Amino acid sequence: MTQNINAEIISIGTEILLGEITDTNSVHIARSLRDIGINLYFMTSVGDNEQRITDAIQSALSRAQVVITSGGLGPTIDDMTRQGVAAATGRKLVFHQHLLDKIAERFTGFRAVMTENNRRQAYLPEGAILIENSVGTAPCFIVEHEGKIVISLPGVPREMKFLLAEQVIPFLSERYQLGIIKAHILRTAGVGESALDDLIGVDLLEASNPTVGLAAHSGVVDIRITAKADSAEEADAMISIVESKLRHRVGEYIFGTGKETIEGALIQHMAEHGATLALCETGIGDAVSKRLKLVSAYPSVLSAEYAYNDPDVLRGLLGESPEAPLQDIALRIAEKIAREASATVGIAVVSDPHQAEDHGDDEVGTAVAVYSDGQSSSRVYGFGGQADVARAWTSTWAMARAWQMLQGKENVT
Ligand code: ATP
Ligand code: MG
Repeated sequence: MTQNINAEIISIGTEILLGEITDTNSVHIARSLRDIGINLYFMTSVGDNEQRITDAIQSALSRAQVVITSGGLGPTIDDMTRQGVAAATGRKLVFHQHLLDKIAERFTGFRAVMTENNRRQAYLPEGAILIENSVGTAPCFIVEHEGKIVISLPGVPREMKFLLAEQVIPFLSERYQLGIIKAHILRTAGVGESALDDLIGVDLLEASNPTVGLAAHSGVVDIRITAKADSAEEADAMISIVESKLRHRVGEYIFGTGKETIEGALIQHMAEHGATLALCETGIGDAVSKRLKLVSAYPSVLSAEYAYNDPDVLRGLLGESPEAPLQDIALRIAEKIAREASATVGIAVVSDPHQAEDHGDDEVGTAVAVYSDGQSSSRVYGFGGQADVARAWTSTWAMARAWQMLQGKENVT
């Protein structure tokens, strides 16, 4: 039966607190713990100060069975982790001649002279289990304390990652009956986060295993299903039950899973069904085409592409007055280019090339329209062609709507 194990991570180093380095070690350790089903409720960063390191370890030990530290194991005076662990667990530091010999050997191997301060690294808290560090000099160790464990890893990311994968994860997996945690992501487009939340329903959103959570990224909302189980097969089975419920409720918005993109889903669908695309982007650069071109099948679906700098060019093409709203222009252009190129889908993005920010509720900065088979769909944004957010949202919306309009249309040619 799976044990419920809680861990905490403590990153040690004043550089982290000064904002000089980013604490990527904790992120890496967190992912590794997640992958083996250990819960993580706190991550702490603490400077190179013995008392504060001791306090941080003691607080962590009061809440968790496993505490993992990174950093502060080097030979210099500001490397305080050994002392902190010893103090927090009420032990002395004990000198190990064979550790010093090993460190000396490494120095000889590198034809370098070992300085006196390297002696510090030969001290370990009494009774610590040594973790052999074949990729660096700093000896790492595990201290068992009142049924709990403190694991101290070096700060250098390459060394930390190696020792975590080779020594620590196997040690934890051996010691505890750990289940595993698996996550599966369903990607949706064409529906907002709150609408999706309503459609999914509280029974799934409030369940504790698997959990269902939403994460929005400009125009795409991810549904993450996370299951904890004794084995990968069991977790997959649990995920698959929730996935079918979700597909039943919101399947029309799901365009892919995992790392699949809306551009990939759209082009793949079009290529499979022999559909073609006409695209016009005005006043916004290559917001949509830039993303579509990343998909290898793009050339096979493209039947026409137009780029203009100014919406007035389109007004002229359509014989419209300079006052004609961007949304009308986008709708007419999407249809016109689709018909002229005999394309299955027409996408038009028309943007005010001078406007950056959103200038208020009634101001239209960008209009997007999608036309397919006699049907049109459009929407407007306050952001103009200068805004990155306009490029992200309009391109996602256009591709998502095109993908949606093509759904269920088999053999469109
Ligand atoms: P050393 O023997 O190099 O002194 P150490 O175990 O004492 O190793 P630190 O001195 O704390 O480790 O850190 C060494 C270097 O590793 C830092 O300068 C930094 O570049 C990197 N590092 C330390 N901690 C982290 C962290 N939490 N995330 C990312 N990088 C880190
Ligand atoms: Mg150091």
